[in-house]
Amino acid sequence: MRERLREAFGERVSFSPSVLLAHGRDEGYPEVRPVDAVVFAESAADVEQLIRLANELGFAVIPFGAGTSIEGHLIPVQRPTVSLDLSRMNRILEVRPEDFLAVVEPGVTREELNRRLRPQGLFFPVDPGANATLGGMAATNASGTTTVRYGGMRTNMLALEAVMASGERVRFGRPVRKTSAGYDLKDLLIGSEGTLGVITRLYLKLHPLPAHVHTLRIFFRTVQDAADAATALMGAGLPVARLELLDENALVAVNRYVNKDYPERPALFVEFHSSTPEALEAESAMARELLSEFAPLAVDAARGEAERREQWEARHQAYWALVHLFPNRKYAITDTAVPLSRLPEMVGHAQALMKELGLVGSILGHVGDGNFHTIVAVAEADYEKAEAYVERLVERALLLDGTISGEHGVGLRKRKYLAAEHGPAVDWMRRLKEVFDPKGILNPGKILP
Ligand SMILES: Cc1cc2nc3c(=O)[nH]c(=O)nc-3n(C[C@H](O)[C@H](O)[C@H](O)COP(=O)(O)OP(=O)(O)OC[C@H]3O[C@@H](n4cnc5c(N)ncnc54)[C@H](O)[C@@H]3O)c2cc1C
Repeated sequence: MRERLREAFGERVSFSPSVLLAHGRDEGYPEVRPVDAVVFAESAADVEQLIRLANELGFAVIPFGAGTSIEGHLIPVQRPTVSLDLSRMNRILEVRPEDFLAVVEPGVTREELNRRLRPQGLFFPVDPGANATLGGMAATNASGTTTVRYGGMRTNMLALEAVMASGERVRFGRPVRKTSAGYDLKDLLIGSEGTLGVITRLYLKLHPLPAHVHTLRIFFRTVQDAADAATALMGAGLPVARLELLDENALVAVNRYVNKDYPERPALFVEFHSSTPEALEAESAMARELLSEFAPLAVDAARGEAERREQWEARHQAYWALVHLFPNRKYAITDTAVPLSRLPEMVGHAQALMKELGLVGSILGHVGDGNFHTIVAVAEADYEKAEAYVERLVERALLLDGTISGEHGVGLRKRKYLAAEHGPAVDWMRRLKEVFDPKGILNPGKILP
């Protein structure tokens, strides 16, 4: 296999042990398993060529974006496995402001795209905290702080092109804002974690930069109060563009890590996007009035763009801040989502469970979507406790009509819960996988139990 890969890709293939190791890990799964080779694709033709070779020689292929996923998506489960690194396919091919459309290669990162769009008064809203690639974000159906207003990857992708397991390159969808023509295979590829096709081009929906923005930080006595207030804010129909919960540990960690002095109490970080200053003023007054019913300890508004940006940067650093606060441990990040009305109960349960199991960590997340994360930091010997915690949280989410993953996906870690969520629908997923990838070349062993 090595010789054939060298012949086909020359300098674009690596067998260096450190590179193989760096491609057999992610940011959250506790195990690392080196892959057998890494191919750095520079064009869709490279991707096609690798898939043709995989068919001929029988190796597995795992697409790789920025490696920021969490659930073991990138860990090889069979030999030999080639990691297909798409980070060099990083060209922004076209921006059409009049159509609110960008066409990009999969290795473009969301931060790079937004840097390019800003002078044109446009932005792409999906923002998982990490600076992920847009291909990786599509493959995990990523979402983030602004999803409550703008939606996640499925809402913000109009079309995509992918190289299928057969080696064919196919476009799914059209660059239009709506269509009802045929089965929506674009949405099937989105969130498929590299198991159905390799995304080689994305057609993204852009948005005008919001004209009037107001950002609040509200601090509460308990996490439960914060969750109740979040649910009430959503019910009021205000133009909420971000609605994030951070518990007291998250704020302790953030204060130390990015040198802030936010009150170390459970908080909601909220942002409103309005079309006129008058609307913004009226809406934020309404929000303050509503929040006063939940006895906040303090309400604080960001002054100006710089402070706003710092606030969201602090929020995005919460995971790293926690790692810094509890160094030399293992960390488990959970991700569940429940219907909004069940959010306060679910958050209360998460907190009680952490206490019961004697775990330290933090609860934070995109509560405007009923989606939140817990990060627990455990000594290596106690990792089983973290797994028990994840298991019980997932069980409770399902009991409350929720999902085992709001945004991080299934990967390896959550495969065992898939049937509990979907029942017989898992058999239909398996049949689909067989149609798309009959030889099991693409990221085998992921998603399906
Ligand atoms: C601190 C931190 C915070 C995070 N916060 C969020 C959050 O708020 N919301 C959220 O959704 N996620 C979050 N994540 C998870 C992660 O950032 C997302 O899952 C992200 O979308 C992964 O993108 P990536 O480029 O790193 O992909 P990778 O990790 O490289 O790959 C992820 C999956 O996509 C597949 N893949 C990658 N590129 C392609 C392609 N071109 N075609 C087909 N398959 C492909 C891979 O095979 C793999 O299965 C967070 C992670 C960290 C570390």
